[in-house]
Amino acid sequence: MSIGAQQREILLRETMARLARSLFDRGFTVGSSGNISVALEDGLLITPTNSCLGFLDPARISKIDRFGRHVAGDPPSKEIFLHRAFYETRPGTGAVVHLHSTYATAVSCLSDVDPEDCIPPLTPYVVMRVGAVKLLPYVRPGDPAMGEMIRGLQGSHACVLLANHGPVVAARDLESAVFAAEELEETARLVVVLRGQPVRRLTYEQVQELKQVFG
Ligand code: ZN
Repeated sequence: MSIGAQQREILLRETMARLARSLFDRGFTVGSSGNISVALEDGLLITPTNSCLGFLDPARISKIDRFGRHVAGDPPSKEIFLHRAFYETRPGTGAVVHLHSTYATAVSCLSDVDPEDCIPPLTPYVVMRVGAVKLLPYVRPGDPAMGEMIRGLQGSHACVLLANHGPVVAARDLESAVFAAEELEETARLVVVLRGQPVRRLTYEQVQELKQVFG
């Protein structure tokens, strides 16, 4: 590995720990739930199994090589297949964040949401940062079928909700993935707060305009 790549990995380990702590401190994740990964030139970094996002030791974050082998740090999160499914099917994915954050998980438990579009375009920001969110059917934690369902989307979505479980968000880099996970959580909170109220969603034309202007 070149010195540049080595330095980049050290920096990414520190950034991961800092952003994870920030998510933990603000209650987006509790206990040992949630996991974060970031792509490297020669593999990926992912939070270790049973680690608390509030107290990550950068040096102990797991490293997986490009063949999926654990090569450094503590053993990786058991939910690594969620992450790999995004890297393998969405070119340009630089980081993936999976949380059990309260409101996004609450929406994932509602029986009457549209599985094709479970987070409505309530604000421009959710359109710009998150896009359409698909609700994937429930399977037990650790079941590789979850990864297969994400692969089945063939890269069409950057964000999904796993039914009765929580969100998985992919983006081009670590900061963008964390921001998108936060935006998704805050929008899910609006969905819950507004439940039962007549709601004005952004129109199809308004959503298209945002896609055109902001890409
Ligand atoms: Zn999970």
